[in-house]
Amino acid sequence: MRSSRQQMPTANAEQVEEIEQFDAIIIGAGVTGLYALYRLRELGLSVQAFEDGGGVGGTWYWNRYPGCRFDSESYTYGYSFSEELLQEWDWKELYSGQPENERYLNYVADKFDLRRHIRFNSRVVSAVFNEDENLWQVELEDGHRARGQFLITAIGILSAGYIPNFEGLDSFKGDWCHTGRWPAEGMELAGKRAGVIGTGATGVQLITEIAKEVGHLTVFQRTANYCAPLRNRPIDPETQRKIKANYPEIFKKCNETAGSFVHDFDRRSAMSVSPEERLEQYERLWTEPGFKKWLSNFYDVMMPGEANEDYAEFVRNKIRERVKDPVVAEKLVPKDHMFGSKRLPCESGYYEVYNQDNVLLVDVREAPIECITPNGLKTTDAEYELDVIIFATGYDAVTGSLNKIDIHGVGGQTLKDKFAKGPRTYMGISSAGFPNLFTINAASVGNFVRACEPLVDWVSEAVCYVRDHGYTRISATPEAEAEWTAHVSEAGAKILRTQANSWFVGANIPGKARVLLTSPDTAPVMRAKRAEVAANGYEGFLLQ
Ligand SMILES: Cc1cc2nc3c(=O)[nH]c(=O)nc-3n(C[C@H](O)[C@H](O)[C@H](O)COP(=O)(O)OP(=O)(O)OC[C@H]3O[C@@H](n4cnc5c(N)ncnc54)[C@H](O)[C@@H]3O)c2cc1C
Repeated sequence: MRSSRQQMPTANAEQVEEIEQFDAIIIGAGVTGLYALYRLRELGLSVQAFEDGGGVGGTWYWNRYPGCRFDSESYTYGYSFSEELLQEWDWKELYSGQPENERYLNYVADKFDLRRHIRFNSRVVSAVFNEDENLWQVELEDGHRARGQFLITAIGILSAGYIPNFEGLDSFKGDWCHTGRWPAEGMELAGKRAGVIGTGATGVQLITEIAKEVGHLTVFQRTANYCAPLRNRPIDPETQRKIKANYPEIFKKCNETAGSFVHDFDRRSAMSVSPEERLEQYERLWTEPGFKKWLSNFYDVMMPGEANEDYAEFVRNKIRERVKDPVVAEKLVPKDHMFGSKRLPCESGYYEVYNQDNVLLVDVREAPIECITPNGLKTTDAEYELDVIIFATGYDAVTGSLNKIDIHGVGGQTLKDKFAKGPRTYMGISSAGFPNLFTINAASVGNFVRACEPLVDWVSEAVCYVRDHGYTRISATPEAEAEWTAHVSEAGAKILRTQANSWFVGANIPGKARVLLTSPDTAPVMRAKRAEVAANGYEGFLLQ
C-alpha cells in the first residue's frame, strides 16, 4: 500500500495544503517505534513515523548524560526479530553505555532502511480522529499535518522529563539541564561546582561519573534508594561466541520470567531456609552482575513481608559498610520504602563518592529546597553556590508523554480528560472512544525490548485483522475497559511496585492521580491474555 497526497483546504481558502496520507502513523522512533515501523512496513502498510528528536533511539538518543547505561544485560535487550542482526552485532559490554546503545539503534535503522520513513525534529502536538473518514489527523509543532487510519503512540514510558517547579530557575546565572535532555555537545563540568538534584537510577549513574571530574559536588537527596553493584565488564570473544550461539535459549528464558529479564526467582522462600543458608545466598548473589541479586533471589524477597525486610536490612548494611562517615551513611540508607518496590538502581562506585572530600550530601527532606538563586540553590537551612545544576528529577511516566499531545477521539473527548484520574484502557493498549489508537507506550514494562516486540507484533496483527475483515475501526469496548481498569487497581494494590511513592504510580508528580500506570500482571500472563483476545476475534474490542 502506498502513501497518497490529498489536497486539503486550510483555514485560508486561497491556500491549499497537501496532507500526506498513510495507513499508519507512528509517533516516536525509539526501540518501540523503530520496530513498529519495520513490522507494519513488512506487512505492506504505508507508514510514517514522527520523531521529536534529531535522530533515532528515543531514551538512548536523549540520555547522553555521563554514566548512562543499561541495567538490562545488553544481549537480552537487543531485538530478536532478525537472526542476521543478532549475528552481526557485537555487544561490547555486559551492560553497555548510551553511546553504544545509540549506535546499535542507528545500525538497525540503516540496516532495515527505516530512516526514510521517519521525519525527525517533528513534535506531534495534536491528533484528532475524523469520524466521517475514520482517520487520525496529526499536526506537528511546525504546522505540518498528516493523516493515517491507525495511530500508534510509541512515545515512551520515561520520555516526558519532569523538573519540579522551583522558584527562581530563570534567575540562575550558571548552566542547568535535565538528564533526559543532556546537550549533545556535553556540559562543561571540569573543576566546576556542580549540584545534582535527585538520586534515582539516573542520579546514581550520573553522580558516580561526574564526581571524577567536577571541582565540588553537592547532591540533593529526597529519597535514599537501595542501590546494588552493577559489576559491568567487557564481553570477551568466547562469551560473545556463546551468546550468539545461544540466542534462542536466552530469549526463551527471558520470555518465561515475570519481567522478561534473563533472571528467574529461586522458588524457595527465604524464610524456609536457615539464616546461614539465607545469608550465603544473599552474599553469593551480591557478587553477581546486574539484577541477579534482585530477580534471582528467594521469590518472597519480592513480596511485602518478612523476607523482603530481611533482605532490605542486608542491603542497608552493605551501604553502611561502604560509607566512612556514619552520619552520611545513615542518610544514604533507605528506610521509607520496601526493597524492590522501585526499580533497583545499579551502581559502579556510587557509595564511595560520598567518601570524597569534595562531595556533600544534602537531605532535602530535612531541609527542603526553597528556591534557585542567581548563584545556586537555597534550602530552608543554607544556600549552596553552584556553577551548574543538573536535574536528575525523573519523568512524568507513561501518561506524561500522552498528555503533551492534544488527542481528541469520538465526540471530541480528549484523552487527557479521560485519563485525569489515571489511564482507562483495555490492556494498556486501547481506550474506548479512541478508535484505531494504540497507546503502545502504556503497555510495556520490564526488560523493554523483550516486552515491546511481542506487543508490536500483536498490534500489527490487530491492524491486519481490521483491514482483512473489512472493518474500519477497532477500539476497546467500555465494558472491557472498565473491567481492565478495575483489575489494574485491585491486583495492583497487592504488588510490591505500588508500595513506594515512585513513578510507577505517578507519585513523583504533584497532583497526579496515584494509580499503577502499567499492568500488574507478569509478561507471560500479558502475552497469553493478548493471544486469547486475538484468538477470540478480538474479544473486548469493538470492531466496526
Ligand atoms: C536513563 C534510562 C535508562 C534506562 N535503562 C533501561 C534498561 O537498562 N533496560 C530497560 O529495559 N529499559 C530501560 N529504560 C527504559 C527505556 O525507556 C526503554 O528501555 C525503551 O528505551 C523505551 O523505548 P520506547 O521506544 O518505547 O520509548 P522512548 O525510548 O522513550 O522513545 C520515545 C520517543 O518518542 C518521542 N516522542 C515523544 N513524544 C513525542 C511527540 N509528541 N512527537 C514526536 N515524538 C515524540 C521521543 O522524542 C522519543 O524519542 C531506561 C530508561 C531511562 C530513561
